[in-house]
Amino acid sequence: MENKKIEHVSSYYAATINEAINYPVLKEDISSEVCIVGAGFTGVNTALNLAKKGYKVVLIDSARIGWGASGRNGGQLISGFTFSDKFERWGEDIAQSVWKLGADCTDLVRQTIEEFEIQCDLKEGFIEVALNNSQMNELVARKEEWERRGYQHNLTLVDKNQIKNYVASSNYIGGMIDSGSGHLHPLNLCLGEAKAAANLGVSIYEQTKALKVNPGKEVLIETAHGSIKAKNLVLAGNAYIGKLNPKLRRMIMPANSCIIATEPLGNERAKQLISKDMAVCDLNTILDYYRLSADQRLLFGGRWNYSGKEPKNIDQNLRKRMLNVFPDLHDLRIDYAWGGNVAVSMHRIPQLGRLTENIFYSQGYSGHGVAPTHMAAKIIASAISNEWDMIDTLSRIKHIQLPGGKWFSSPAMSLGMLFYRLKDFLASKS
Ligand SMILES: Cc1cc2nc3c(=O)[nH]c(=O)nc-3n(C[C@H](O)[C@H](O)[C@H](O)COP(=O)(O)OP(=O)(O)OC[C@H]3O[C@@H](n4cnc5c(N)ncnc54)[C@H](O)[C@@H]3O)c2cc1C
Repeated sequence: MENKKIEHVSSYYAATINEAINYPVLKEDISSEVCIVGAGFTGVNTALNLAKKGYKVVLIDSARIGWGASGRNGGQLISGFTFSDKFERWGEDIAQSVWKLGADCTDLVRQTIEEFEIQCDLKEGFIEVALNNSQMNELVARKEEWERRGYQHNLTLVDKNQIKNYVASSNYIGGMIDSGSGHLHPLNLCLGEAKAAANLGVSIYEQTKALKVNPGKEVLIETAHGSIKAKNLVLAGNAYIGKLNPKLRRMIMPANSCIIATEPLGNERAKQLISKDMAVCDLNTILDYYRLSADQRLLFGGRWNYSGKEPKNIDQNLRKRMLNVFPDLHDLRIDYAWGGNVAVSMHRIPQLGRLTENIFYSQGYSGHGVAPTHMAAKIIASAISNEWDMIDTLSRIKHIQLPGGKWFSSPAMSLGMLFYRLKDFLASKS
C-alpha cells in the first residue's frame, strides 16, 4: 500500500513555486558512491557540489525537496557562520577560520544562483536593528571585529534618526547595514538547486524516508520500498533527523519559528515601510525578522518556542508582534501563516563532522542557515573528495550532547524560553 504523500506546508513560498517537479519514490535496491539523507539546503548543495566533481550521488527526502526549514524560512541571506559573537572561545586559529566561512557564505549562494540561473527574487541589503543600548554596543563591537578580520562588504552604523530612512518603526535606537547580506525566496532557491543537481546526474527520490542506517565499509540505507548501498553517507536531516540517529538528535534542540505573510501592500506603502527593500532582523534572542516579498507582502517572522511543536494561532500571535513594530498595518489581511523547526546547538554554531570514517553530518544552524548551509555543503563535499580538511578544523569544536528523554520534553524547553525572554527584558532596561 502507498503511504500518504507529504507535501510542502501551506505557505507564501509553496503558493509561489516557479516550477513544480515531482521526483519518484525509491522502489528498488540501488548503489551509489554517495547517499545523502535530507533534501534541504545542506543535502541538495552537498549533492550539487559532489555532482560537479563527477561523483555518483543519490539524494533522498522523506517528504519533498525543501520540505523542511529550507523551504519555509524567512529568506534572510545573512553573512556569518555562527550566531555566536564569541569566536575567541575556540582559540584564534579556529576563530578566524570560522569567521571567514561566515564572511564568504553569502557570496557562495550568489555564485550558485548565477551559475544555474535560479529565479529566487534575490535582493541585496540587510539591516540589523537595535532595541536598546546594549544591542547597539553589540553592533559597534561586531563592526569593529568584522572589519579587523577583513570583511569585504560594507558595514554601516545608523543612529535613531537615520534608521527611519530604512525602517518605518519608532522602536529602534539604531542599527547596522550589511551590504553583503540580503534576502530571497528560499523554496525556489532550493528547488532550483535540486533541479541543477538532477541535471548533473544526481538521482533524487522524494517521499523516501531513511528508516535504518547500517554502517560499514559500504553503508546500507534502508527505506520502505528499497535500499541504497553507498561508499559514503551524509546525514542532512537537521531538526527533522528524529529517531534515525539519536546521537545527532541529542546534539541539537529543535525549536519552532513561525512566519506570517500579509496581503500585498502595493508599491507606495511597501516603499514607506522598508524603503530600501532590505531584510530586517532585531537582536533579541527571541527575535523578530521581516522583509518584503517580491509581490510586496510583509513576511514577518518570530515567536520561537523550544518544544519543537507548532504553536496554535500563529497568525494572531505574530500579527500582534507585527503591530508592535508597525502599528499602522492594523488594516492588513494575513494571507498565510506557517511554522517550521530549526535545530539549535548549544554554542549556536553549526555542527559538522563524521560519525564514522564514511558517515558525515551537518546540522545545528541555530535559525541562521540559509547561507551557512551552502558553506557546510561545500565543506562536506570537499571532505568526501579529500580536497579541503575544514571539517577536521570544525571537528575540534567540542559540541555538547544533551541527555535524552524527559529532560528535553516541552516543559524543560519552555523554561529555557523563559530564561531567554528574561535576558531580553533585562537588556531592554539597559
Ligand atoms: C520559520 C523559519 C525561519 C527561518 N528563517 C531563517 C532566515 O531568515 N535566515 C536564515 O539564515 N535561516 C533561517 N532559518 C533557518 C534555516 O532555514 C535552516 O538553518 C536551514 O534551512 C537548514 O537546512 P537543512 O538542509 O540543514 O535542513 P532542512 O531544510 O530542515 O532539511 C532537512 C530535510 O531532511 C529530511 N529528512 C529528515 N529525516 C529524514 C529521513 N530519515 N529520511 C529522509 N529525509 C529526512 C526532511 O524531510 C527535510 O526536508 C529559519 C528556519 C525556520 C524554520
